[in-house]
Amino acid sequence: MATQKFYLTTAIVYVNDAPGLHYLYEQIGTDALARFHRQRGRDVFFLTGTDENATKIDRAAKAKGEDTRAFVDRLAELYKRAAKVYGISYDRFIRTTDADHVEGVQWFIRRWIENGDVYESTYEGLYCVSCEAFYEETDLVSGRCTFHSDRDTIQRLKEKNYFFRLSKYQKALEDLYRDHPEFCEPETRRNEVLGWIQRGLKDISVSRRGLTWGIPWPEDPTQTVYVWFDALINYVTGVVQEVLARGRPRHREGHLTVPLHLLAGDAPFGRHRAAEAGLGPRLPELRGPAPLEDERQHDRSVRCRGGVGR
Ligand SMILES: [Zn+2]
Repeated sequence: MATQKFYLTTAIVYVNDAPGLHYLYEQIGTDALARFHRQRGRDVFFLTGTDENATKIDRAAKAKGEDTRAFVDRLAELYKRAAKVYGISYDRFIRTTDADHVEGVQWFIRRWIENGDVYESTYEGLYCVSCEAFYEETDLVSGRCTFHSDRDTIQRLKEKNYFFRLSKYQKALEDLYRDHPEFCEPETRRNEVLGWIQRGLKDISVSRRGLTWGIPWPEDPTQTVYVWFDALINYVTGVVQEVLARGRPRHREGHLTVPLHLLAGDAPFGRHRAAEAGLGPRLPELRGPAPLEDERQHDRSVRCRGGVGR
């Protein structure tokens, strides 16, 4: 009987500050799942990593007087060390500044351009710099982002950038979620996504103008790739080397944007289970050296479990 394949990912985290307990919560939960499936003889690929191309990371680096590249290198290392201390058995730790990810994102964008999925237009609207997300007036409460109601994070943007024809994929996405219920589980999440789609999909801005940090838009140095589009592609680029090494595709991730990438990029897709881990309230951060000082002790405990870990 063929070995059952199981592709497992965490979300990737912004590296604008040190890792917190909320980071370890997701890492440990995902690690437990990975180990569970390995014990049952499944061929597991466990992907985790860091989301590094956001404007707010560039700002955090500048606020500390650091070069942004040096800042993300330093922070990403802290996240990797935290994962090591806790014996997280990932197969790849992807950074969205990794060369193969940058090339992969630009490959997808070139495919969209070839497919006629991208056009230039003017975006005018509201943007939360902390969420790195576009909002409508009706999404705000007292003029503030509901996730960042304690501070003023909303900017009014008017800029020329590139739009993706999301509306073109309305029917294809509806059909996908309706005809293949196994693609997204549990049912509550599938219904939530179908609800977004059925309310009508609008074309979305997928680039930002005049930024000095981020993945350059192919053939247009004045634009960088919108960070969410770049980040979500990691669930594909993170496994490409593995696919090439084994000669078979095995994508198992995607809410709305990932299947969209796959439909628009003609990539194959499989079954997806949505994680239930919300971000919740911000928990204390692991700023101090204490957890990392325990590294040897944790390493020993991982070795003692012999055969389960990597
Ligand atoms: Zn926000």
